[in-house]
Amino acid sequence: MAQQHRTPIESGCPDGFQYMHPVMRKNYGQWKYHEHTRPGVLMHAAHSGDQVWTVKAGTQRILDVYSLRKLCEIGETFGDGYVRFTLRSNIEYMVTDEAKVQPLIDALENAGFVVGGTGNSVAMISHTQGWLHCDIPGTDASGVVKAMMDELIDEFKNHNMPNRVHLTTSCCQINCGGQGDIAINVQHTKPPKIRHDLVANVCERPSVVARCPVAAIRPALVNGKPSLEVDEKKCICCGACFPPCPPMQINDPEHTKLAIWVGGNHSNARSKPSFQKLVAAGIPNNPPRWPEATAIVKNILKAYKEDARDWERINDWIDRIGWPRFFEMTGLPFTKFHIDNWRGARERLNASTHIRF
Ligand code: SF4
Ligand code: SF4
Repeated sequence: MAQQHRTPIESGCPDGFQYMHPVMRKNYGQWKYHEHTRPGVLMHAAHSGDQVWTVKAGTQRILDVYSLRKLCEIGETFGDGYVRFTLRSNIEYMVTDEAKVQPLIDALENAGFVVGGTGNSVAMISHTQGWLHCDIPGTDASGVVKAMMDELIDEFKNHNMPNRVHLTTSCCQINCGGQGDIAINVQHTKPPKIRHDLVANVCERPSVVARCPVAAIRPALVNGKPSLEVDEKKCICCGACFPPCPPMQINDPEHTKLAIWVGGNHSNARSKPSFQKLVAAGIPNNPPRWPEATAIVKNILKAYKEDARDWERINDWIDRIGWPRFFEMTGLPFTKFHIDNWRGARERLNASTHIRF
C-alpha cells in the first residue's frame, strides 16, 4: 500500500496577498506609471484605469501597542482599512479616493506622526534590531535613529535633496548592519576582555577559534581551566568572537565607538554597485542623543545638498568631485586609518556582483 504522507505544516510569513488592498491585488503586475504628487504621497495608476494613493508616515520603529492601535484606528477611519509597513519602519495607507488623502494626512499629523519619506527626501533610517531582539549590540540602534531623525525631520518631510538619501545604522560591526548612502556603524576599538572563569561553561572553543577572521584566538589553559587567549597584535577588534562566546566581552562604554561610512549603493540605472567608504571614526557612542555622530551626518548632508547635481546619489557626487574635495567640503579630517591597505582585499572581498568560487 502506498505510504500516506501527512500534509506539510506551513510556517513562516502568511501570504501577504490576503491582506493587500483589493485594488492593488486586482492590478498586481499591471501598473502603468506612478508619480510623487506631494512629499509623503505616491499615486500609482494601473492600465485598467484604477488609481491608488499611498500616504507614508514615519514611526518610531519599536512600536508600543497603543501607537499601533492608534495607527490602525486612523487607517479604519480615514483610510480604506489597509496598511503595510515598509523595510524602513514607515507605515503606508492605501486609498483609492484622492479626496481621502488630505484628511488622512491631517489625522496622522494631529496624532504626532510625520508624513514624508518619499522622492528626493532623506528616507527613514533603516536600522538593526538592537537591544530588544539581539544579544550582541554595542549601541542602541533605535535610539540613534530616533535622535537623528528628530534632527532631520525637515529633510524627511520635503523633497529638497538632489536624490534620495538612504541612511542606515548598525549596532555591531559584523552582522546585519547597513550599507547606505550614509551608514552609522558601531566600531570596537579594543580587543575583547576574556572572562576565563566562564569560557569553559559557555563557549565551544573550536567554533570560537574558527570564527576569528585573522586567526588571533588560540585555546589556552588558564588557572588550570580550558579557556582562550587572544593575540592582541593580530586582533582587528571586529567582535566576531563575542556572539558565540559572550565571555569574550568586547562591548565597552568607552572604547566602543561609532564610525560613519558613505557612498554605499546598490546598482541603479546609472552605476554599478558601490561599497561604502569610511569617512569618520572614533565618534563617541553617546546616548541618549548621539550629538557628535548627528552633527557629522548633518554636515555631510549639507555639503551634498549644496554641491551635488540633480539626481546624483551621494556616491555619484563623490565620484565626480573626488575624495579630497569631499573631505575638504565636509571638514572631516583625513587620517591614515581611512586608507584600506589590506593586501588580500582584491582577491577576498566581493567587489562586484559576480559570483566567485
Ligand atoms: S547589527 Fe549586530 S548587534 Fe545589531 S541587531 Fe544586527 S546582529 Fe545584532
Ligand atoms: S575581535 Fe575579531 S579579530 Fe579580535 S579576536 Fe575576536 S574575532 Fe578575532
